[in-house]
This record gives sequence, C-alpha cells and structure tokens, in this order.
Amino acid sequence: LNSLDHLIFDNRFVSELPGDKETRNYPRQVFGACYSRVSPTKVTRPTTVAYSKEVASLLDLSEQVCESNAFAQVFAGNRLTQGMKPYASCYGGHQFGVWAGQLGDGRAINLGDVINQQGERWALQLKGAGLTPYSRTSDGLAVLRSSVREFLCSEAMFHLGVPTTRALSLVTTGEQVIRDMFYNGNPKAEPGAVVCRVAPSFIRFGSFQIHAARGELDLLKNLVNYTICIHFPHLGNPSTDTYLAWFEEICRTTAEMIVHWQRVGFVHGVMNTDNMSIHGLTIDYGPYGWLENYDPDWTPNTTDRAERRYRYSNQPACAFWNLGQLANAVYPLIGEVEPLQQALDIFTQVFGEQWQLMMGNKLGLSRFEPGQDDALFADLLALLQSVETDMTIFFRQLADVDLGKGNLENVDVESLITPLIDAYYVPGQLTPDYISRLVDWLKHYSQRLIQENIPHDIRRGQMNCVNPKYVLRNYMAQLAIDKAEQGDFSLIAELLELLRHPYHEQPGKGQFAAKRPDWARQRAGCSMLSCSS
Ligand code: AMP
Ligand code: MG
Ligand code: MG
Repeated sequence: LNSLDHLIFDNRFVSELPGDKETRNYPRQVFGACYSRVSPTKVTRPTTVAYSKEVASLLDLSEQVCESNAFAQVFAGNRLTQGMKPYASCYGGHQFGVWAGQLGDGRAINLGDVINQQGERWALQLKGAGLTPYSRTSDGLAVLRSSVREFLCSEAMFHLGVPTTRALSLVTTGEQVIRDMFYNGNPKAEPGAVVCRVAPSFIRFGSFQIHAARGELDLLKNLVNYTICIHFPHLGNPSTDTYLAWFEEICRTTAEMIVHWQRVGFVHGVMNTDNMSIHGLTIDYGPYGWLENYDPDWTPNTTDRAERRYRYSNQPACAFWNLGQLANAVYPLIGEVEPLQQALDIFTQVFGEQWQLMMGNKLGLSRFEPGQDDALFADLLALLQSVETDMTIFFRQLADVDLGKGNLENVDVESLITPLIDAYYVPGQLTPDYISRLVDWLKHYSQRLIQENIPHDIRRGQMNCVNPKYVLRNYMAQLAIDKAEQGDFSLIAELLELLRHPYHEQPGKGQFAAKRPDWARQRAGCSMLSCSS
C-alpha cells in the first residue's frame, strides 16, 4: 500500500459499546462507559526514530510509507487517517495487590482496529500522545527513555517467541517533557516520544474489574460479550458456558506466557491487574528487566524493593493472584464459585506442566521424567544461585559442554567446564567445592542424557533454539538511550536488528552476548528503574 489512507479501520469498540457522554478532555472519573473519545495532542516536530518492518508488514505498510513524513505525522498523533476514531479506554486495577479504582488509558490513545489484507484485526495505540480523562495527576506524555525501552523490548520479546504486544514505531515529538529524572536538584526536561503499540486488543483484566467494582453489571456483560464475539469467536455465542471457556482460555494463555518469561529471564516489574492482557500477551513495558546473574529474588522495580512482590520467582504466583481478581470481576455473570475455581486450577496445571517441559527443553530433554528431573532442575537452579552466574550465558554455553557418552568419571574437569567459565561474574567464587558440585551435576545430567539418546550436535541445536544468545540486557537498552538522547539513533537500529535473531550466532556482535559490564551493576536505568520509567 502506498498510502496510510488505505488502512481499513473497524470501529466496533466505539460503535458497539457505551462511551463517555462528556466530551471535554480533563482528568476525572468516568462512569457508565468503556471509553472516552479523545484526540491525540499535536506536537511540533515528529521524527521517526525507528520502525519495525515485521509490524509494518502486518499492517500492509510499505517501506516507502514507513519512511515518509506522513508516517511520522500520523504515528506522533498529529494527523488522523481516514477511518480513525481515537479513544482512551476506561479500566481499573489492583496495583501491588491493592485496589486502585479507575486507572485507564492515561497516556495511551487508541486509533482503532486495522483489518489487514489477511483479514486480521490489529489494534493501534499511541503511547505518549497526550492528556486523556484517565491521566489523573500526570500529562499523558512519554519520554524518549521509556519509549526506547518499550519499542526495543516488545520487538525483542516477539523474536524470542514470547507472546507480547508489538511496536510499530518510535517517533520523537520535538517537545520536551519533564519527568522524575533530576539534574543538580532540578527536574530534568527530556525529549518526548510516542510509540505505536500493536496487538489484537489492549483489553486487560482491569477493563472488567472497573465495571464489576462499580456495580455496572450491564456494562460488564456488554464488554464480555463484545470481547468474546470479536476476539474469541471460536468459543461460540456468549452464554454462561462461553464465559467460563473464555476465562479458562485466559488462564491457559497467561500460564504459557509466564513460562516463557521464566525461560528467557524476563522480569516484568509491574504485574498489576491493569497490566495483564486478556490475550496472554506481555503488555506494558515499564520498569522491566532481564535477569543477568540468576537471582530469583531480583526485581528491577525500585518501587518494589521492599516487598519484592514482582520478583522473578514470584511471577507465576502473581499471575495466579491476578487471574483470581479477574475471576472475581466476572463472577456476577456466572453466579457460581466452583467452576471459576476449577478454571483457576487450569493455570496451576498448565504452568506446572509447561514449566517442566520448558526446563527440560533448556537442557535438551524432550520430555519430563517424574522422579528424576525434579532433582536435576532443583540442583541446577541451586547451583546457579550459589555463585553469581549469568543465566543467559550459562544455558547457551551448556550446549557446548561435551558430555561425551555419559562417562565423565575420568574427564579433565578444566576442559569440561571451559565453555561455562564466561557465565561467572566473580572468579573468586569458583571454589573447589563449587566446582565439584558443578561437576557432580554435569555427571547427573550426562546420565540423564543417555536416556534421551540424541547426538551432541542435535542436542546443541535444540538447546540453541530455546536458550537465546542475545537478550536486551538492561545496560544495552540504557546505552541506546544515552546515544539517542544525544540525537544518535544508531544503537537503537543496531539492537533492533540484532534482536531479530536472538538464537543465531551473529559474527561481530559478541559484545552483546557478553556479561553485564561492572559499571552497569549499580547505574540507574541499567538494573534499577522506577514505575514512572
Ligand atoms: P502503569 O504503571 O504504566 O501501568 O500505569 C498506571 C496508570 O498510570 C495507567 O492508568 C497509566 O495510564 C497512568 N499513567 C502512567 N504514566 C502516565 C503519564 N505520564 N500520564 C498520564 N497517565 C499516566
Ligand atoms: Mg499500565
Ligand atoms: Mg506503564
């Protein structure tokens, strides 16, 4: 397609669901409505910093269109194309386990759903496009720093095979935005930016919670019916059974998503119920981070440093708790606790099975052997924690450890563990005791592999498809941001390209597969972020 005006929009969300009667745009409580119509705020100088070619092609947008000025204008919010009916949606949520009431699209404006040439529906949303009724005490804007993080990470996650919302574009606005970064004691102005996010929909657990909490049960039912008809049509016509089947599907896809997070070492950082997609997609890239040294207690979110609610190891429990809140919200439509409880059990079951399979796959095992593999996994995770070990490097390099034919009795320890040495942050921690535990584990592992009976090369190839070589290490995103703030977008482009193939060896890119450098350990942005990031 040569023009953005050829995008076909479907506006069923705003045409079928009740909207806000008030048309003035100022922060307030919005009752009895699923959304408020609102226009993006105009900005002075939109400049496209980067775009994802895969997402562009989902929307049938040519390279020529993506590189045009019109593209920057539209995806900064300056121009609406034919058929766009922008709106901000109303939702609520539990933040850190506490009901927070109305939240809503405070800095996101939906442009509508595009129906592409394949007939697929893709919702477009501008993040950072200005004030909405849901902006509460803030401005609805986003800074370059957080926009780079969202743009790069959502695309990286997609290429890792993790269910996620996508990002079409990253555009700077030419405006300066004041945030919580301080310079010599004064709030610092930062470049403003807008990311265009793309997903089947941006409907969240909190989209239902808000209506349940307010006793807007007709609206709740309306929205559930709409969601099922449009986004879960395979479940059939809405009825109590369909509602349950729908909730079960959300339990299942959420469990699968969390297994993927644990596989790649992704820590979301703010798993509030407003940040949980009903499609089981990773949504809302704020103070997220990647595990570098394997520490199950780690969270990147400084706002959560005391409780550590959203730490790596607690993500499955948080997802389950959040599903419980969604169950509470839809309960009035079902009227019975038992079937919802059974549906919740599906989360536990799917997560348990998929996690075992995933851990096995990380080790090149094709199936889970009860009674054997629990100990194999537990011993490995204990090893990874006992000294500072880079999770990504360890698993990637484990594929290169030559376990021979399972006979490690007279093996030369030094050459055996050589491939793993790069994974350790503190050489002094590699005591004889640690090494002997590691070798014991490798012996156990090699014995287990005998049962699998697969040649070393095949095992290596299989492991390299689940253990990425390249992830968006926290400091890498920060380096791209540092440069971008100086007007140099080259590292954003380089990382976007690198992360399109996270499982492939990429010659000349070794520095991006290396351990976090020492300077990055304590630097803000590299391992610690706040919610407003
Ligand atoms: P989050 O922690 O990103 O999930 O955001 C929680 C709530 O705060 C959501 O309703 C957001 O829309 C809102 N919010 C976050 N940042 C801003 C901002 N800069 N302006 C207005 N609303 C915001
Ligand atoms: Mg959010
Ligand atoms: Mg956010």
